[in-house]
Amino acid sequence: MNKIVVIGGGVAGLTAGIYAQKSGYKSIIVEKHNVLGGQLTGWNRRGYHIDNCLHWLTGTNKNSPFYKTWLETGVLEGVGVYEPETLYTYEENGKSLSLSRDLTKLKSDMLKLSPNDERETKSFIDAVKTVSGIMGTGGITHDRNLSIKEGIKAFPKLLKYLSLSTGKLAKKFDNEVIRGFICGLLTENFSSIALLVVVATFTSGNGDLPVGGSFKAAERLIEKYLSVGGAVESGKEVVKINIENGRAYSVELSDGSEIYGDAFVVTVDPAAFFGGISDLEMPRELKRKYEGGRYERFSAFQCAFSCDVSALPRKGDFIIRPPIPFKDIFSSEYLVMREFSHEKSFAPEGKTVLQTMVVLDERRSREFVRLKNNAKLYYEHKIRLANYIKKCVCDAYPELKKSLELIDCWTPATYKRYTATEIGSFMSFAFGGGILPLKSSLKVRGTKNVVLASQWLKAPGGLPIAAECGKKAVEYLVRADKKKTAPTRSLSKRKLGFSE
Ligand SMILES: Cc1cc2nc3c(=O)[nH]c(=O)nc-3n(C[C@H](O)[C@H](O)[C@H](O)COP(=O)(O)OP(=O)(O)OC[C@H]3O[C@@H](n4cnc5c(N)ncnc54)[C@H](O)[C@@H]3O)c2cc1C
Repeated sequence: MNKIVVIGGGVAGLTAGIYAQKSGYKSIIVEKHNVLGGQLTGWNRRGYHIDNCLHWLTGTNKNSPFYKTWLETGVLEGVGVYEPETLYTYEENGKSLSLSRDLTKLKSDMLKLSPNDERETKSFIDAVKTVSGIMGTGGITHDRNLSIKEGIKAFPKLLKYLSLSTGKLAKKFDNEVIRGFICGLLTENFSSIALLVVVATFTSGNGDLPVGGSFKAAERLIEKYLSVGGAVESGKEVVKINIENGRAYSVELSDGSEIYGDAFVVTVDPAAFFGGISDLEMPRELKRKYEGGRYERFSAFQCAFSCDVSALPRKGDFIIRPPIPFKDIFSSEYLVMREFSHEKSFAPEGKTVLQTMVVLDERRSREFVRLKNNAKLYYEHKIRLANYIKKCVCDAYPELKKSLELIDCWTPATYKRYTATEIGSFMSFAFGGGILPLKSSLKVRGTKNVVLASQWLKAPGGLPIAAECGKKAVEYLVRADKKKTAPTRSLSKRKLGFSE
C-alpha cells in the first residue's frame, strides 16, 4: 500500500496532493466542506460574485521561484494576469499616496507629499530595493539569492526595519498620509519587514492578479489534482486520527467511515488538530506562537456592497481611516476597500462589487465566534456593523450614497464555520517588530508518519506559504521513504516504504 491521506483541501492540501501524485504516490484529500479550495474561494449572492481571497498573488513574475509552483499546480496555467498600476491607495483629508508598480514613482510621490521626510523616504526605498534582491521577491532583474558578501552589505540597510513595527516606522515620518500608507494595509502592529516585502513584491511585478479571481484559481488547482489521479472525499470532516505504536493508520470521518493510509498530511489549523482530531501535543515551538505575545492571530469583519461602476471614487484597493468610534469597535483604525470593476462577470452591466475589510485582533475575533452561539444576537450585531461600515464609506465618498447596497457580510465566525480555524483566522500569525518569522518544524512528536503542512508553519501565511508547506511536507515524506528503499530503483517504480 502507498497511500497518503491529506487532511484539508485548501491550497496546502491540494498542493500536497498534486506533488504526492506526481511523486508516484496515491493520495486522498479529505475536506469537510463540499467545495475544495479552503480560503481560496468566492461565492455568489444576489446576482453578484464575492471574491474571498486574492488581493495579490506572490509569484506572478515568470522569473520568480513561485511562478513554477503555480504553473505546476495549475493556479497560473493557461490564464492571464491583471497588472494593476497600483496595489493600494491610502487617502486622508483629500490627499493620497498609492503603492505604484513603479518604485521611482512611489519615491517621487512620497517626496512630493513630504519633502521633510526625504531621509526616511530614501532609506525606505533603498530597503525595498534590497528586499527585491533577496527572498525571491524581485523577479526579472533580482530574483536570486544574495552571495554572503552581498548579504553582509545588504544587512545594515535592513537592520533598522527588522526592529520596527509598521506603527513605529510610521512615526518616523512627519506626513500623516505617508503614516497611513505605512500602517493601512497591514495595521500598525506588523513587522515593517513585512511591508517592505509587499512593496518589493508588487514593484517587481511579482504580485499581480490572476484573471477570474480566487474561485477560478481554486478550480484550476482542483482540476490539476484530479488530472494527476488524485482522489477526494468532500463534505466529510476528519474527527479523529487513529495511531498505534507511534504510527497513524487511519482517520475517522464525520459520517462514521474510516480511511486508511500510510502517511498523513495535516493542513488544518493546528489548534483544531492538536487536542481535537488527535490527542497529540502541539509542537512546542508552534505552541509558543499560539500563546501570543510576539505573535498574534487575527481575522476580519468584511462586507460586500453592490454599486454603480460610474460612482466608484477609485480603482483597485483603497484605504481610509474613519473617525472615532471606528477603532474602538474594530481594534484597527483602517478600513480597506476593494472594487472589482476589472472582473466584468462578477456583476451585472454597469454595476460592480465593493468589498470592505477591517482587521480584528484575537480578542475581537473570539467575541464573534462566541456570539455565533446566539444566532439572533449575532445576526443583529453583524448587520448593525455592516450599516456602520456603509455609513463610513458614504461619509468618505458621498458619490457612492445613491447606489451602495449591502449584499453580504461575514465575520470570524463565518471562517470558523467553513474552514474550522479556531478563531476564524484566514492567514497564520501576525508578527511585530524585532521578529524574524522563522519556519516551525513540520514534524509531530509521538508519530513517524504524520506531518504538518499548513500555513501556520510560517508567519504570516498566505497562498505561497500554504503551497510551499504542502509541497515540502510531501518532499519530506518522499525523502523518508527513499531512505528505506533501494537506491537503484526510480522513484515512480519503487514500492513505498510505509507499512501496509
Ligand atoms: C479575505 C482574505 C484575503 C486574502 N488575501 C490573500 C492574498 O491576497 N494573497 C495571499 O497569498 N493570500 C491571501 N489570503 C490568505 C490565503 O487565502 C490563505 O493563506 C490560504 O488559502 C490558506 O490555505 P491553507 O490550505 O493553509 O488553509 P485553508 O484554506 O484554511 O484550508 C484548510 C482546509 O481544511 C479544511 N478542514 C478543516 N478542518 C477539517 C477537518 N476536520 N476535516 C477535513 N477538512 C478540514 C477546511 O475546510 C479548509 O478547506 C487571504 C485570505 C482571506 C480570507
